Amino acid sequence: MRNRLKTDCLVIGASYAGSILAAKLAKNAETLLIDKSQPGQLMNCGGGLPEKTFKKLELDIPFVRTDKITMNIKGLVRSFPAKYVVIDRRDLNLALYEKAVAAGAKFAKMSYIEHSSETNVAKFALKTETVEVEYKKLIFADGFHPSRIRIPQRVTKRLKCGAAKVLIIEGETPYPDTLYFKITKDNPTGYSWVFPMPEKRLNIGVGGFHSGTVPESLIDNLKESENLKGKTIIRGGGVLPLSPIKKVQDHDTYLFGNAAGMVYALNGEGLKHIFDISEKWATSIIADDNLNFKWKFSSTYFKLNFASMGLKGMLSFGKLLNRPLYPLACRAAAKSRNIIHMD
Ligand SMILES: Cc1cc2nc3c(=O)[nH]c(=O)nc-3n(C[C@H](O)[C@H](O)[C@H](O)COP(=O)(O)OP(=O)(O)OC[C@H]3O[C@@H](n4cnc5c(N)ncnc54)[C@H](O)[C@@H]3O)c2cc1C
Repeated sequence: MRNRLKTDCLVIGASYAGSILAAKLAKNAETLLIDKSQPGQLMNCGGGLPEKTFKKLELDIPFVRTDKITMNIKGLVRSFPAKYVVIDRRDLNLALYEKAVAAGAKFAKMSYIEHSSETNVAKFALKTETVEVEYKKLIFADGFHPSRIRIPQRVTKRLKCGAAKVLIIEGETPYPDTLYFKITKDNPTGYSWVFPMPEKRLNIGVGGFHSGTVPESLIDNLKESENLKGKTIIRGGGVLPLSPIKKVQDHDTYLFGNAAGMVYALNGEGLKHIFDISEKWATSIIADDNLNFKWKFSSTYFKLNFASMGLKGMLSFGKLLNRPLYPLACRAAAKSRNIIHMD
């Protein structure tokens, strides 16, 4: 590879967000997609997404359809209708990456080092070499990095984040046709889940709103209490941004996906929201529109911000009362969604 490249749009991160955006940008501009890993290897997801979103993605990958969400809140079981599908996140990322390449995006496996907004040049590490890329637009879709502030004006204070651990294991779900969530005493400001997957596999995991990592004991407790004994196929995890970034554009530099905090704080769902706003991102970048303004007045921003403020309020008020309010809120949410008593 040459040590100096040139492109119109430079997208860093070829996971879910980056690949969706690159496919859209490539239709109108020369697009270079970069990731430090080969796309399709990242396991940072429960793999649950609304059936509507999945259909709009138009992908031919294995999936399991579920038609309700079941919540076990400290032993009280509630269920309500919700049409979702569960996929293997690696299949999802790979299929979206292939779509981006089919749309004309070029891919390079390199690691971001730094960029200069003055010269519009970004530097990447490729084995022992440094590669420079001259760009017109630079998009960070490289996930959530709370400790890295790459656009000086973009973050006024550090984002709080949660964390989640996920495993795919062999076995059949004890809870067919449903996304099963459990809220227990050992993790009162978080949740665990058991989702059915294609090919007699399960996606199980634990997420929490406390920063840092999820203790392994919570995964062990979930397995034991649900009698899940299957062999582990792959494990992974990641952070959950808990509030949307207010400033997502700084001149020619943009944030997208987890990098912009596009996760619904109350349940850790990001895939739907990232897809919903992706068209706005692509058209605004191409048309040179003010994305900060469009973002702030979008329904996605409103929903994410609302969830974030709700969660923050609940966590601090709970602290004040010395009582976790998250399980109560989940119960209220389940009730308000026209619940059917299951037990
Ligand atoms: C355990 C867990 C379970 C989840 N379950 C669900 C779920 O069931 N449903 C749902 O809707 N959402 C879920 N989410 C949220 C969802 O996973 C995120 O919203 C989504 O992954 C965000 O995608 P992204 O492309 O923005 O970032 P990421 O998927 O984090 O991708 C970032 C990419 O950037 C690359 N990268 C990072 N640094 C560099 C660098 N220096 N140079 C080059 N490349 C770099 C990485 O290799 C990676 O490919 C879950 C999150 C976690 C952690």
